[in-house]
Amino acid sequence: MDEERGKLVVISGPSGAGKTSVCRALKKNPNVEFSVSATTRSMREGEQDGVDYHFLSCDDFQRRLGENQFLEWASYNENLYGTPRWPMDAALARGKTFLVEIEVDGTRQLRERAIDGLYVFIAPPNIEELRRRLVNRGTNEAEEIDQRVHIAKEEIAAASSEVAGSPLYDVIVENVVLEDTIKRVEGLLWP
Ligand code: 5GP
Repeated sequence: MDEERGKLVVISGPSGAGKTSVCRALKKNPNVEFSVSATTRSMREGEQDGVDYHFLSCDDFQRRLGENQFLEWASYNENLYGTPRWPMDAALARGKTFLVEIEVDGTRQLRERAIDGLYVFIAPPNIEELRRRLVNRGTNEAEEIDQRVHIAKEEIAAASSEVAGSPLYDVIVENVVLEDTIKRVEGLLWP
């Protein structure tokens, strides 16, 4: 008997909104597989190549782009990020929930191509709180924090935009208390 096709889940949100923590919790479910993106940004302390990202040179990224290897891609803070194409098809064919953690431009590309899925945007309670979380996280330089806050404002505005008359995201979840946010998102995925 054919297995039921799986479901794509797109999670977006500004840097510092808590989406990585939400995704980390979702990944504990054995039915969830997740995309490992390619990026040209440099590796942060504690990250592993092939686990957190596939860390590529600009030339290598561009070559793969030319070969149409990415499902979607975007430039974020002067670095390139892309979702490799084949793992999603393989996971969905096996009935898995496939989790993709990407920013808003990439999400728009998926929506424009009418790729079926649940699209969730994790929003911070407000910009001051977002900045505080980024500072506390301690992984970004002060200048980079300013850039990320600037991008966050644009992303929050873009999150409530539409693609072909439908909302870009199915749900915008405000992350005030992480445990509650995780429960809410789990409830959306597995009602
Ligand atoms: P970071 O540098 O903090 O790991 O990621 C920066 C932003 O890029 C985050 O919003 C993250 O979700 C997004 N991102 C990571 N991988 C991809 C990808 O493959 N495609 C797109 N469009 N965005 C991505």
